[in-house]
Amino acid sequence: MADTTHKFSIHETQNVKDLLKEHGFPVFRYAQIENAIYKNFITDFHAIETIPKPLRELLSEHCFYDSLEVDTNKTSANGQTTKLLFKTKGWEHIEAVIMRHLTGRVTLCISCQAGCPMACSFCATWKLGLLRNLDYHEIVEQVLFAAKLLNDEGNKLRNIVYMGMGEPMINYDNVADSIRSITDQKKLDLANRRITVSTCGIVPGIKRFTDDFPQTSLAISLHAPNDEIRKSIMPVDHTYPLKDLMASLDDYVAKTNKRIFYEYIMINGVNDHIALAHELGKLLQGKLAHVNFIPYNPWEGTNSDGYTTTPRFIIEKFQSILQHYWVISTIRATMWDDIDAACGQLANKKQ
Ligand code: SAH
Repeated sequence: MADTTHKFSIHETQNVKDLLKEHGFPVFRYAQIENAIYKNFITDFHAIETIPKPLRELLSEHCFYDSLEVDTNKTSANGQTTKLLFKTKGWEHIEAVIMRHLTGRVTLCISCQAGCPMACSFCATWKLGLLRNLDYHEIVEQVLFAAKLLNDEGNKLRNIVYMGMGEPMINYDNVADSIRSITDQKKLDLANRRITVSTCGIVPGIKRFTDDFPQTSLAISLHAPNDEIRKSIMPVDHTYPLKDLMASLDDYVAKTNKRIFYEYIMINGVNDHIALAHELGKLLQGKLAHVNFIPYNPWEGTNSDGYTTTPRFIIEKFQSILQHYWVISTIRATMWDDIDAACGQLANKKQ
């Protein structure tokens, strides 16, 4: 990889503009660079033919575009899922997953931290601890890599979920900058509502997000309808109990009028007692909510926690109970079994 000690990322727009100005290049040159990078997915400055050679050299001298190196790029046997394992400059591994749904919809799941400090008991990522917050350009490069890959196969990236490694609300500024770049019309130009930020329930982050991104979608990793069970699997509930969390979400809905996605991982004997389906129904009834049941995904080392997946008929029972409370729900299809593409799995092995 290039020596980037004194260089800055090509994705730092203002720095690039300043560089151009300093060297007397007209403003429209930035538009050409932007077009090459975000619309034509060019990663090599020397290959940007629309700009003069001295400018290509100037960019090479001062900027870098290789925050991430692809370590593994594996597609499942059915072609639906691609797992991308990247290595950062600090040699941490982070992952992104492309999901090609049968409906034709394509979703990219990206990471915002290397590792994660939240320590949810069912998640493989926390076993790494928090290695580091990702920089904004490391988040954007995951998106650009996937967008190019999809473009080359005649697909178009339209949906992004921040559901890979890490907790977006504690790397707020970098996540916010990445959303701005992804939705910028002159850059990736994705619709805000097609971007979903998922949080385990960091209330101050949710408040900032409500004010800054009222059009962007929000998902909450809820996983239990009461504090007792939630605390036992998600330590974050000690700091932000359900009462505070739900109040911040009511405020989000009041200000944005957007439906919130609630993730509920189904773990056998832990949070899948039928009485909890009624509690969940009561908690969410009358709210603008959509529950997504996620069958628990086993990962290496799981056995020590003794977690297994809830049987399908119980998940379906949960769904029918929620209907009594007029709460909409879906069951997430698992489409990635043969390539270890569930949360945290691959990076955990490499790390
Ligand atoms: N920190 C954020 C973003 C990570 S999202 C959040 O908590 O929302 C990752 C999603 O996958 C979360 O809903 C998480 O609870 C879920 N998840 C984690 N481990 C899982 C596992 N073993 N099986 C299925 N889903 C899991």
